[in-house]
Amino acid sequence: MPQPLNQPETPLPAGAWRPDALVAALRHAGLRPMQARDAAKVWMNAYYREGLDRDAALARVPPVQAAQLAPLLADDRPLLKVEEVVALDHTRRLLWQTADGLVIESVIIPADNGQRVTLCVSSQVGCGRRCAFCETGRLGLVRNLGVDEIVGQFRLANAIWNDVRDALPAISNVVFMGMGEPLDNLDNVVDAIAVLTHDWVYGLSARKISVSTVGVAKNFGAFFARSSANLALSLNAPDDARRSQLMPVNQRVPMADLKSALLASLPRGRSVLVEYILFAGLNDAPADAELLRAWLEGVPARLNLIPANPGPDARLQSPTQEAVWAFQKQLLDAGVRVMVRYPHGRDVGGACGQLAGAHRQKRGQREEANG
Ligand code: SF4
Repeated sequence: MPQPLNQPETPLPAGAWRPDALVAALRHAGLRPMQARDAAKVWMNAYYREGLDRDAALARVPPVQAAQLAPLLADDRPLLKVEEVVALDHTRRLLWQTADGLVIESVIIPADNGQRVTLCVSSQVGCGRRCAFCETGRLGLVRNLGVDEIVGQFRLANAIWNDVRDALPAISNVVFMGMGEPLDNLDNVVDAIAVLTHDWVYGLSARKISVSTVGVAKNFGAFFARSSANLALSLNAPDDARRSQLMPVNQRVPMADLKSALLASLPRGRSVLVEYILFAGLNDAPADAELLRAWLEGVPARLNLIPANPGPDARLQSPTQEAVWAFQKQLLDAGVRVMVRYPHGRDVGGACGQLAGAHRQKRGQREEANG
């Protein structure tokens, strides 16, 4: 008799199981270790890599094991593609409707050099962080996405991309920079990364996954302990007054505390990516570059400068190209590792949550017009 492993036997949506948890649940259900491992592996390979649905993937599993596996796999909560927009730079924006009728977005982003393709995924429906430059922030938080809904974005986008990519590479990188603050949905984000990186699923490298946060400092330690994916910190301002204006999270965790929390939790040998959106006349002056340099001192970090896309707040404008170059040069001269990253898909709504925001607006207008 296998040892009871104290794992849940309650069914989860098929795409929500971590491989290790599914093996443990199968053992708990009575399968021997090798049987449990083989059943989970065969089912996951068929479900993810071949893209079969739950039942077709179950048909690949020997009947004895399938009889134990089937009751653990609840029906999927499918995502339905409701819009796909391709930008001039081949960025592909995808809008999904969740099973409960909500809208989220993912974006497929081929690198300019054609050597890498990244998928940007959402971690929540809406977001409670209310950053001034972000359409999603205007929605407020509706709910967290489940593991199946996060991995499901990859599963569907991967199939769409494989149909159209021709000679371009498969999706190899994932960024959690779509709708939502990932560290506000830490458990599901960490589990989704465990699924995406597992050999039986897509076998992505954790080093090619980045989780972008506004700085939920209380969850830094848990994130680093439970995931070896990269952390990207969205800083965007050189001092507290301006950061609080752009990002309300700063009112609770000012920049000095944010830096202390980061340094206290960052494991030795790991570094962070710091993102800084440049807004004309707000945070792009030479004095701002110097304040930013000072904040970065002692932080093992690379810096990405991102010229702003026009967003929901008309006061937040894109900087001139000259201002971007001058800002970058000043930091390079000061020894900071810094790159400029231009937002992709500007012609189809380049900023966080813009497509879903625009869709919501259109739907609202339609509903109003229909009385
Ligand atoms: S930028 Fe990110 S954290 Fe801020 S409101 Fe938008 S989705 Fe939320």
